[in-house]
Amino acid sequence: MNILVINCGSSSIKYQLFCIEKKIALASGIAEKIGDESSRIIHHKSNKTFTKSINLPDYFKAIENIAELLTDSEWGVLESKKNVHAIGHRVVHGGEEFKSSVIINKYVLNRIKFYSKLAPLHNPPAYNGIKATMHIFPHIKQVAVFDTAFHQTMPEEAFMYGLPYRLYKKYCIRRYGFHGTSHRYVAQAAAEMLKKPVQKLKLITCHLGNGCSITAVKYGKSVDTSMGFTPLEGLIMGTRCGDVDPALVSFISEKEKISAEEVTNLMNRKSGLLGLSGISNDMRDLLEKANKGDKRAKLALDVFIYRVKKYIGAYLAAMNGADAVILTAGIGENVGIIKKRLAKEMNAFLGRRTKLLSIHTEEERLIALDTFELVKK
Ligand code: ADP
Repeated sequence: MNILVINCGSSSIKYQLFCIEKKIALASGIAEKIGDESSRIIHHKSNKTFTKSINLPDYFKAIENIAELLTDSEWGVLESKKNVHAIGHRVVHGGEEFKSSVIINKYVLNRIKFYSKLAPLHNPPAYNGIKATMHIFPHIKQVAVFDTAFHQTMPEEAFMYGLPYRLYKKYCIRRYGFHGTSHRYVAQAAAEMLKKPVQKLKLITCHLGNGCSITAVKYGKSVDTSMGFTPLEGLIMGTRCGDVDPALVSFISEKEKISAEEVTNLMNRKSGLLGLSGISNDMRDLLEKANKGDKRAKLALDVFIYRVKKYIGAYLAAMNGADAVILTAGIGENVGIIKKRLAKEMNAFLGRRTKLLSIHTEEERLIALDTFELVKK
């Protein structure tokens, strides 16, 4: 069975085509800068890459072109569109309603649109992408895999904020958590590495990419996670500030003479590694500058690592210990110096009982597997 995985961002669509039987990705790519004049598709087949500059005014055109590339005589891997047997979509927000992946029907599609109120930047592109694929691949089943679903097992004590309870009832204000598919994937992969069932392990999974979040996974279930109502809470990220005193929103708004919305924008786009260093949101740039003695780059790194360490400590307390801490995503998988420093600091407060592992995350693969499980029934 061939399963196409679609991940719609605000101006891009990532795609990957899996053959379930062979357990491999046949092709993958990204349609970038949708809606912009410089839009293009970067397509990978085997180890070759092909870049097609093409005007993609909207998601519909982008997916139409992706379908064409997948069946192209030179760059394609399929004879016809009919060889795509199901489609799995990454959807960021499923509210409290979706606790696992589901087959998309009219109701589900409407609810994805409804939860745009909780994820205004993320759910609308997913909704548009699903509408487009339903049109272009009309006769196959489509599945939604939610970023929030894995965290729906959190107990109330972990997901409630200390705000008036009526705000939870009225506006659904609570911790939701994100990156759920990645945390679930690496927890499972860690269990395989440790040769123990995930139901017998306490794991702390650290997704450190452009966005960063940490999850306490107790016996296979998320019991706490650092991102909250939105993906702004928790760790220091590429351009996001993570935890700050909430009183700062009105303070900065008054001092800088900007609206609350603009402060939120500043916290989302101009803060984090970029804001602290004044150099870049990219860890590679910071490592290079820090090596050359740049003080602000070093500061950004120190704050980043200290925050990760603090959360690891918090989740050790939440679960009364952990068998392993897992690092994943761009920074977690590649930055040896961060792993080394965390290992050193963790040895000081943990001893050697808790293992520190780097595991490559493959959210798309898990989306394909979820899709397969649901459509084979
Ligand atoms: P996203 O959250 O957008 O999927 P990634 O998981 O690709 O992001 O992570 C992006 C971050 O990982 C960037 O800060 C980037 O600098 C860092 N990164 C990726 N590869 C490397 C590498 N080889 N060495 C150091 N940092 C890396």
